[in-house]
Amino acid sequence: MKVKFWGTRGSIAAPGKDTILYGGNTSCLEIILESGRKILIDAGTGMRPLGEHYIATRATVDILLLMTHIHWDHVQGFAFFDPIFKPSSRIAVDGFPAAMKGLRVIFDNKMGDGFFPVRFEDLKAHIDYVGELSRHAVTIDNTRIDAIPLNHPQGALGFRFQEGKKRLVFITDNELVKDGPSGKGLDDYVRFCKEADVLIHDAQFTPEEIDHHRGWGHSDSASTLDLALKAHAKRLILFHHAPARKDADIAAIIERCGNVAAEGKHDIIVEAAKEGSEFTL
Ligand SMILES: [Zn+2]
Ligand SMILES: [Zn+2]
Repeated sequence: MKVKFWGTRGSIAAPGKDTILYGGNTSCLEIILESGRKILIDAGTGMRPLGEHYIATRATVDILLLMTHIHWDHVQGFAFFDPIFKPSSRIAVDGFPAAMKGLRVIFDNKMGDGFFPVRFEDLKAHIDYVGELSRHAVTIDNTRIDAIPLNHPQGALGFRFQEGKKRLVFITDNELVKDGPSGKGLDDYVRFCKEADVLIHDAQFTPEEIDHHRGWGHSDSASTLDLALKAHAKRLILFHHAPARKDADIAAIIERCGNVAAEGKHDIIVEAAKEGSEFTL
């Protein structure tokens, strides 16, 4: 499978000179399976340039959109994803049970008319909610997808993709604690991430910041590295960068994680998600 980061930031888009390297757009990933099937994770603001890319390359938009949850940094890009205005587009939505509510609310907020000039019903694309992944594993072509509940206000889901021998785990908006509100704790996440070739995980905070942000539903870089090491992940990619985190700060976090891994003689690659970057596994 091929994975591309279209949005890596958390909480709110953060464009500007300090976020050029790691990116300012919020959560959106594109996964292309060996079969060619396209799966997107999240509809953050990174979905806007992805839509422009699809239109410019005349790509067939027949996608599965997996929603981790519906906080605004994960849905805001949907209204600006140009393929929603094309009748040839097919978007199957799965993942978080309230995913459709989150995608519709920008268009149909009855409480505050005036948020957006287009109604959801005016969209030309075929948009359907599948609603399977929160209940059981799903197999798409030769790839099995599992979901796990996350420790995050109002809940969220993480996803694991198994294509042949290759394993990718994507978990954002998750606070790594022993026993969390989702009913899942660190041991459950270690099991879920076991032997991942690539683990992408929320690391919004530094170890110094996390104590002031307990209960916010995010992790710090040290806990995230600890999870990756316990799970024997081969490669860890930190995700959901704090909006105020500058490129140089993220580079320093990576260096610090790398030093901890090296001191423990752990053979793991630690990186931070970069908008526009891609990898194949
Ligand atoms: Zn978020
Ligand atoms: Zn969230």
